[in-house]
Amino acid sequence: MPPETPPIATESGDDVEALRRRCRDVELLAFDLDNTLYDEGRYFEAAFDRIVPFLAERSGRPQEAIGRRLREILRAHGKHYHYLFSDILGEIGLDPTGGLPDVLALFRSVRQPLAPFPGVTELLRDLSSRYRMGLITSGMREVQENKLRLLGLAPFFEEIIFSSTLPENKPGQMPFRFLLEKLGVDAARAIYVGDNPLFDFRGPNQLGMLTFRVPNDELDDLDVVTEDDAQVRIQGVQELRGLFLAPTMG
Ligand SMILES: [Mg+2]
Repeated sequence: MPPETPPIATESGDDVEALRRRCRDVELLAFDLDNTLYDEGRYFEAAFDRIVPFLAERSGRPQEAIGRRLREILRAHGKHYHYLFSDILGEIGLDPTGGLPDVLALFRSVRQPLAPFPGVTELLRDLSSRYRMGLITSGMREVQENKLRLLGLAPFFEEIIFSSTLPENKPGQMPFRFLLEKLGVDAARAIYVGDNPLFDFRGPNQLGMLTFRVPNDELDDLDVVTEDDAQVRIQGVQELRGLFLAPTMG
């Protein structure tokens, strides 16, 4: 079944050639969303613009203090922390459980337009004219759908998998296998691009997909075992242009 794929570094010339050869057979490019195609911190900031005044009114505490605490908790625990809003509700004397639905409703209905990382829209447009395209994103489905709407990126993907709705989420194999089966593409002809070694690479590595990792300040110092890391590190999704859209190809 899944081959032991050796890690491919991009530093030495031989490895670049091996990588280019592997990329030539690729049919499907699949992406993570948060912090791979755009800065999720921007979504949190836009959400805080709505949530902070709401919490201030409910609790009678000053907006500045609530905003500062939210950013402190986010910084301390990272954007994947599940208790950000329960923590703040508790800290300002509101019911951490009963108060949560109202806060989450505000979180998933941000309306401020959101910009992808520079050049991402153009990159996805160009890639989608040559390759099958997929997206696998975890997180609450309604929030992820809202982000995609605000980013305007949904039209570039043939299939979008909201992996939190499946019995097994990333980094398990199921969301990746589900995408490959839906599109009828062999794992060996598919890549996955993500930023988070805790979620993005174990499943696709096991299936034999080629995995690419983009930088993320919060995660770059993390100790990661080989199975959970990407096979290729790139400086940003823009590097895919050279590998998949070079004029010498095809
Ligand atoms: Mg991510």
